[in-house]
Amino acid sequence: MTTPPVLPRIGTAQTPGATRVMLLGSGELGKEVTIAFQRLGVEVIAVDRYYGAPAQQVAHRSYTINMANPDELLPLIREERPDYVIPEIEALATDVLALIQEEGTSTVIPTPRAVQLTMNREGIRRLAAEELGLPTSPYQFASSREEMKEAIQNVGMPCVVKPIMSSSGHGQTVVRHADDIDAAWDHARDDSRVDQGRVIVEGFVDFDYEITLLTVRGRDPQTGETSTYFCAPIGHHQDNGDYVASWQPQPMTDAALANARKIADKVTSALGGRGIFGVELFVKGDDVLFSEVSPRPHDTGLVTMASQRFSEFELHARAVLGLPVDTTLLFPAASSVVKSPCEGEGLGFTGVADALAIPGTDVRLFGKPEAHVGRRMGVVVATGVDVEDALQKSQSAAQKIHVVR
Ligand code: AMP
Repeated sequence: MTTPPVLPRIGTAQTPGATRVMLLGSGELGKEVTIAFQRLGVEVIAVDRYYGAPAQQVAHRSYTINMANPDELLPLIREERPDYVIPEIEALATDVLALIQEEGTSTVIPTPRAVQLTMNREGIRRLAAEELGLPTSPYQFASSREEMKEAIQNVGMPCVVKPIMSSSGHGQTVVRHADDIDAAWDHARDDSRVDQGRVIVEGFVDFDYEITLLTVRGRDPQTGETSTYFCAPIGHHQDNGDYVASWQPQPMTDAALANARKIADKVTSALGGRGIFGVELFVKGDDVLFSEVSPRPHDTGLVTMASQRFSEFELHARAVLGLPVDTTLLFPAASSVVKSPCEGEGLGFTGVADALAIPGTDVRLFGKPEAHVGRRMGVVVATGVDVEDALQKSQSAAQKIHVVR
């Protein structure tokens, strides 16, 4: 029997020997990641583009910089020298991440290449479909209005046009008729997070349901090798491409679940490294299509704060640190988001007591300093006797919470 390698020690936060992580992106998911690391004694440095972002409020230290600018990102990482750099967003100076890993300053989670490939829709789609041969919707990329029209002709209608640098439905249009085509280009151009003037045209998938399969690449304590662990599938509803509710476990046939796991295993193994991945899949009958993957906790996975022995955030922290992971599902559960109906700074919340009066519910208010219409400000999670019951509770509770001036 070979002896597993000795793991690095965990130091004491805020002393010279501390184990330190730097989060690049400090939203609501990063806030929970921060708390998970802090529970394990790790020192957390939270970075975001604006001051007072959710994770910055609970981290040991925070910085506000433009993380897509190499001249701001590189000096900060070199100065702080964290053990691990953990991206939470896509728009990062990825060359900097490759450099700091190469020069031995920090380990990038899961790997610099994975962050680079998943930073836009083109890298990951080409890896999944063209290199790994995973089933996806038909697709074509386009860099101008004319190219997009040609792509729509080739892919066929209905189809979905999305900026390659976008998430949560931003800039996305379902094109059903020729009349929709011009507006789709304008919308993609105007609502892209980073305007690269490039879109993906994807065939519209008439799926039965869609899932997030949280997949953890963690250290197996028996062998010391990296192993793949799956959480129970998470079903979710999207409104205009933005998640509004999720539940776990999503019922699936054995064949569909096996196909989903096979796809998730292939794509996460190709990306490599350690950490949690949110693998997004479309399911029709027993057939499963790959949609995309994020190498970090996923918003639909907020439900795991109620459903699993360890939430996706705790699993991420454990996987990063090389600690054993346990993906046990304890309860059927659901999550429903709380969005702002208005603009403003320093808004308040009413109805939280009424929401929490529903048995089995819990609430997270993210503490975002500024709201705009439709911005996610909080989430309700709930357990139930089954997912329908949990979903009904989380929805009723979320409806009782009002974001007010
Ligand atoms: P995305 O930003 O790619 O994760 O898309 C957001 C949501 O839009 C997905 O979760 C689906 O509900 C929907 N969607 C995206 N692409 C397609 C597609 N090709 N066919 C049908 N629905 C899609």
